[in-house]
Amino acid sequence: MRAESNLENPLLQAATAELPPYPTIKPEHVEPALRTVIDDNRRRLAVLPAAATTDWSGLMRPLEEMEERLERVWGPVRHLNAVCDSKALRPAHQRGLMQVTAYRSECMQNEALFAAVERLQASPGFQGQPPERRQAVHHLLRDFRLGGAALPREKKDRFKAIQVRLSELGAQFEQNVLDATRAWRLHVRDTAELAGLPQREREAARERARREGLKGWLFTLDAPSYIPFMQYAENRALRRRMYTAYVTRAASGKLDNGPIILEILKLRREAAKLLGYKNHAEVSLANKMATSPREVIDFLRELATRSRPRAQGEIAELAEFARNRLHLDRLEAWDLDFAGECLRRERYAFSQQDLKPYFPEPQVLEGLFAVAGRLYGLRFEVRPEVPRWHEDVRFFDVFDAQGQRIAGFYLDLYARPHKRGGAWMDECIIRWRRPDGTLQRPVAHVVCNFSRPAGGNPALWSHEEVITLFHEFGHALHHMLTEVETLEVSGIRGVPWDAVELPSQLMENFCWHYEALELFARHYRSGAVLPRALFEKMRAARNFQAGMKMLRQIEYALFDFLLHVEFDPASGGSVQDVLDAVHKEVAVFKPPQFNRFQNSFSHIFAGGYAAGYYSYKWAEVMAADAFAAFEETGIFDAATAQRLRREVLAVGGARDMTEAFAAFRGRKPKVDALLRQYGLLPLSTTKSGD
Ligand code: ZN
Repeated sequence: MRAESNLENPLLQAATAELPPYPTIKPEHVEPALRTVIDDNRRRLAVLPAAATTDWSGLMRPLEEMEERLERVWGPVRHLNAVCDSKALRPAHQRGLMQVTAYRSECMQNEALFAAVERLQASPGFQGQPPERRQAVHHLLRDFRLGGAALPREKKDRFKAIQVRLSELGAQFEQNVLDATRAWRLHVRDTAELAGLPQREREAARERARREGLKGWLFTLDAPSYIPFMQYAENRALRRRMYTAYVTRAASGKLDNGPIILEILKLRREAAKLLGYKNHAEVSLANKMATSPREVIDFLRELATRSRPRAQGEIAELAEFARNRLHLDRLEAWDLDFAGECLRRERYAFSQQDLKPYFPEPQVLEGLFAVAGRLYGLRFEVRPEVPRWHEDVRFFDVFDAQGQRIAGFYLDLYARPHKRGGAWMDECIIRWRRPDGTLQRPVAHVVCNFSRPAGGNPALWSHEEVITLFHEFGHALHHMLTEVETLEVSGIRGVPWDAVELPSQLMENFCWHYEALELFARHYRSGAVLPRALFEKMRAARNFQAGMKMLRQIEYALFDFLLHVEFDPASGGSVQDVLDAVHKEVAVFKPPQFNRFQNSFSHIFAGGYAAGYYSYKWAEVMAADAFAAFEETGIFDAATAQRLRREVLAVGGARDMTEAFAAFRGRKPKVDALLRQYGLLPLSTTKSGD
């Protein structure tokens, strides 16, 4: 700490605090705190490679310290920008992002440092280091090369400029999506226009209007408002308006992401060539489980081929149902969810709304904790005095079977204005053996956008929302149950993207087993357990339109992947052409011409999933296969859970994932468990397991 004012900067205090002091962090703290840390790091880096003895404590320890201090300052800012965006924080975050990106890029191109790490790897004592340290060094050298460290001067400068620009473009893309989502709303004043919408959705819409000081009902393009509207609203014209607004977000005017997409693709391609790769897909695979673009494309096409016949049957059936029962002669894009929900209700005689009373928030949380408790012997305790960024947020300590505190996490459940949409888990603090020998315990952020308690009732969630919570908590367990002490391979750090969804998707499966559900799925008024018959319907309904859903995901994944393999903005053609070709190959329903879903496809343009969206399916194959191990032994089988914890969760990025999976399962992943899960295999081979 140098300048006096720095002593009062909470972000700099945060570098050593147990937890980030969220409520005291102000936008004006960001720039000076980052400058202080980055300047300090630069000074240390200027002398480190030359002075370093080529051993762990001489080189890697200081690097870990520098990275940790920076992340402890920058992490909270990044997080606040996602959960309570404000006019003042936005530019501070944007400037901070540029500072951090420029610094990181500079580190990754530091030739002296690169050479020092190479020397370390080649040194005689290195092979005697624990595997997690060797893995961290291996990753670091790989990232150096991917970061341009091996490039000659002029190429290096260009590469660096590209990275800075790409990070700006990604942030702008995301901002445009957020602004476009917020800029549009449907204000309903006439009750007749609410026909079909369940009472709870009406109440939520009324509450939304009330918060804005409006009469009537307000619907927005945020998921908790948009999705039920599209499922239930009988008014076709309004559905069309909602749909049109949704799929044309950030597609015109000041918020148009079209030019941003082109520039991103052009720059990614140029950067890949500088590194000696043919395209960005090859760059993306350099640190993934999948070994070649061909392997990924074949994987996706095989899944598509095996799902397509069924999806064709499903869409034909839906069109017929819509014609005969809903008097919709031609099925339009804005009818799909509505008609689908009607057909589902008719066929299974229940809807997501019937399930919600069985999933009141307090019991779902209890159930989640009970499942984690049975599997891993964990216990969770709320700690109310922890400073948080919003009053809705809760903090929990995590204790192991011996009663020792091993981790903590923040839980931010409800949708609210100025909060990024969707759900995610993010690292807050990483498990790490500090240079002074003490152990830093991991802390996670678990963030969702669920409905909040309303009208004096607890929040009632859909089964999908329950699954989402389990999913994110699966990530959090991966982060919190690590036993690694080396910063860069601890928890989810260093885990390949295409494997990182394994623990999360595995957790989802528990929401599909009565043995797990009966722990918590009880009616919020009567206390009655979810009826077995209703559960059986849920299971039967699970595979409703499974072929179509599978194809939609493959369509996104293949579009993303081909865009980063084949598409060259310089040689004519358009992003839309690639998308159209993928639609033609994969999809069974043609979306309208005006659909610009790519303009809000943040995963691949702002979220790090570029040429990596296939990872969801890739990991899902592993997760389904891993869960099959639980089905074979009993879903709460302690030995299976212990083996998963030991071989996969505890080792984080320190171990090769192909190897970790094989150690758990006794073999490589097979695709069959996933196809079975979606009902895409003949019934005769279906295992009965629940
Ligand atoms: Zn996930």
